[in-house]
Amino acid sequence: MSPAGGATRVRFAPSPTGWLHVGGARTAYFNWLFARRHGGAVVLRIEDTDVERSSAASEQGVLDDLAWLGLDFDEGPREGGPHGPYRQSERLGLYRAKAEALLARDAAYPCFCDDADLERRRQIAHAAGRPPHYDGRCRDLPRDEREARVRAGEAHSLRFAVPRREWTLQDLVRGEVTFPEGVVGDFVLLRSNGLPTYNFACAVDDAAMEISHVIRAEEHLPNTPRQLMLCEALGGRPPAYAHVPLILNRDRTKMSKREGEAAVAVGDWRRAGVVAEALLSYLALLGFHPGDEREILTRAELLECFALERVGRSGSIFDPDKLRWVNAHLLHHADGARLAAWAEEFLPAGARALPRADLERLLEGVRGNLAMLADLAGELEPFLVERPAFEPAAVAVLDPAPARALCGELAAALESLAEWSEEGVKSTIRSTGAQLGLKGRDLFQPVRVALTGRVHGPELPLVASLLGRARCVSRLRAAAAGRP
Ligand code: GLU
Repeated sequence: MSPAGGATRVRFAPSPTGWLHVGGARTAYFNWLFARRHGGAVVLRIEDTDVERSSAASEQGVLDDLAWLGLDFDEGPREGGPHGPYRQSERLGLYRAKAEALLARDAAYPCFCDDADLERRRQIAHAAGRPPHYDGRCRDLPRDEREARVRAGEAHSLRFAVPRREWTLQDLVRGEVTFPEGVVGDFVLLRSNGLPTYNFACAVDDAAMEISHVIRAEEHLPNTPRQLMLCEALGGRPPAYAHVPLILNRDRTKMSKREGEAAVAVGDWRRAGVVAEALLSYLALLGFHPGDEREILTRAELLECFALERVGRSGSIFDPDKLRWVNAHLLHHADGARLAAWAEEFLPAGARALPRADLERLLEGVRGNLAMLADLAGELEPFLVERPAFEPAAVAVLDPAPARALCGELAAALESLAEWSEEGVKSTIRSTGAQLGLKGRDLFQPVRVALTGRVHGPELPLVASLLGRARCVSRLRAAAAGRP
């Protein structure tokens, strides 16, 4: 239920001015979890009134990343809905009408100051140690002068006449936050080109779309008094707010794209082969504390315990190694069908061509060596080609004569093995080793290298079974002959 007793309705409101940031993905996920847990609706609103910086390509990219994350929306530009359109650039008439209503009530006024003059006055205020707020010059212009100048077509913006009092917010994460009187100056609602500012469009839309809870990054906290004032001036009841702490670089600054820091774009992690489940779990637990020691939570598990009261107040440092660990854990424990679905974009052509059952078996065979899906091509290679390329560390393993002799003996033994099975291969390797006085590393490593060109990989009987008898025998023979 919302604070007003109505339905729970949240929104994710990206500005399509770039790619989806991991922080944005976490905000979207928190909104989604909150709404789904409370039987509410999630609205996707595109905040594209900054025409110079917004682009259709960016919107497309953000929507694709959200779809990849598996976050679905009940209303939005693709879904439609009763409160549309869901792109702010298509709602300009509404902002104008609301601005006119505020103007008619003297809650807003036209401002004729131009940018250069405003900047100069800001500098003077700054130098004098005063806050850099608008100095209110046009607030008290006589009504007839104002109207005459507007009628004469003089360029002007529309400013909000900020009520002179303090504002208190009961934030669902941060607790009580007070904004003293004077913390904001009269701010612009509509620019001289008729486009709304972020705060105005946001407050109008949160009210029009009947948003009950605004869950967003803490960096928006300074905007909240503006939106509270506007909400009141527009005659609405403000939503509840939850400002979630930032995701940080190692030096505790806001996580941003920087040399030596982890990737910030969801798309970069996706292309590197992180699965959406891993990214979401990792991001959720960067701010949310489940109250126990669990380090990975599925969506279903989070839906059972997610609560804004359990979101911490301080920012968390993004640790790419921890994300890789979460990803590896999920990959190591997934079955073949799931791996095949995740791996779709990462499979080399040879793997795609395999019958589904063989592919799934192969993926289960190599999953223990994967940290990222991008590792797949390398891990699968020995199973897809006639002769695998040897990795540098493997080259010297077959140099000693006993290693080559072992390969020759084993080729013969496997060729005549009565029943080709993992069990059979396992005991054949052992008995051949015993016969030649080889065990442990001296036994297994040459066989592994001969079969796969690698020093690490799945268990040998599994490797043999995945390769099939003919390829095993021919690779062992080649190794025995010193031509791997
Ligand atoms: N468009 C804003 C952003 O991308 C959203 C702010 C909000 O959630 O109110 O940061």
